[in-house]
Amino acid sequence: MSFFASVEMAPGDPILGLTETYLADQRPGKINLGVGIYIDDQGRIPLLPTVREVELALVATGKPRGYLPIDGLAAYNRLTQQLLFGAESSLLAAGRVATAQTIGGSAALRVAADLLKQVAGAGAKIAISNPSWGNHHVVFRTAGFELLDYRYYDASSHGLDFAGMLEDLGRLEPGTVVLLHACCHNPTGVDLDASQWQQVIALLQERRLLPFVDMAYQGFDKGIEQDATAVRLLEASGTEAFVVANSYSKSFSLYGERVGALSMVGADRDEAARLLSKIKQTIRANYSSPSTHGASLVAGVLGSAELRTRWEHELGEMRSRIHAMRAGLVDKLAALGAPDFGFINRQAGMFSYSGLSKAQVHRLRDEYAIYALDSGRICVAALNRSNLDTVAAAVTAVSR
Ligand code: PMP
Repeated sequence: MSFFASVEMAPGDPILGLTETYLADQRPGKINLGVGIYIDDQGRIPLLPTVREVELALVATGKPRGYLPIDGLAAYNRLTQQLLFGAESSLLAAGRVATAQTIGGSAALRVAADLLKQVAGAGAKIAISNPSWGNHHVVFRTAGFELLDYRYYDASSHGLDFAGMLEDLGRLEPGTVVLLHACCHNPTGVDLDASQWQQVIALLQERRLLPFVDMAYQGFDKGIEQDATAVRLLEASGTEAFVVANSYSKSFSLYGERVGALSMVGADRDEAARLLSKIKQTIRANYSSPSTHGASLVAGVLGSAELRTRWEHELGEMRSRIHAMRAGLVDKLAALGAPDFGFINRQAGMFSYSGLSKAQVHRLRDEYAIYALDSGRICVAALNRSNLDTVAAAVTAVSR
């Protein structure tokens, strides 16, 4: 009998599974709104001109590919800190932030989960918004956390259940980790405003809960600075310890290069140094060190004043296109006499919780070859001028 005979089939990933069904679909004109990727008006994943420029220069120099240090490229980490915390950050000036390059935002989450589990021990708990990106649950459960959830999305208003959120956070045991989406909440597109952030942060401080900010879409809602409001307000609040996981997959359109970082804020320089040593130990045990290419591209862009300005402009173009598609969809739905979808304009980032039921999502797929997640999440960043009419007509038909 084989050594592996008892191995059972693991369940497939629901999002990736949908993409497989989409790819196998032979119907012409099929549309995939199930993805978590920004796609341009021509239906392609963009290669940003600034990234291309740095890449060509890198290739031309023919740099050897030695190992990076365990915590990655130093310039990348420094520039990442400035992007997340701001160039004038007092936390950075005080040496209170330990940052390591990671394999996408996903590895930042995983490395932090392993490390926090070590700190919290047997009773480690994390509270996650309901709903949230599915991998949040998978990563923290696998790391040994007990998962709790807090109310977040209010289906009746298509907005935030802020009172419910505060109530649930207020009930958590001290020491619980609280996972927060910095902006462009995945999957709902529903975010907190600055005053709501202030209230949440004050509550977390009072209850001695650990803020863990996941920032996968910086620049996709309002801009680099504005989308970092949660991090800036945490700093301003004097919170002693918090965690930020960030990803450049979307903001640099570098999904497959796996570029992200983990930043842990400690009470002082000494604590940050100890945190960095633990982050490195965790990375060493998992994948030894991160890879060179993607981080060199990001550092190349962020490290040049000229390229950084141009990149912010490129990011702004992606952002405006998403806003235009949101508005276009809402207008077309209204013109076709569909029920009110105006809330789509108030949601932020790549996703919208469309409010469509599972049955309606299945009708979209079966009758119109339009793919969305069962939860009703659609990727508005996959809409374009060629598919908008088709999507609006189909959504109207299934909403009647
Ligand atoms: N957090 C959230 C909320 C995400 O949506 C994603 C990507 N879908 C990630 C983290 C992980 O990013 P990456 O692809 O860089 O691992």
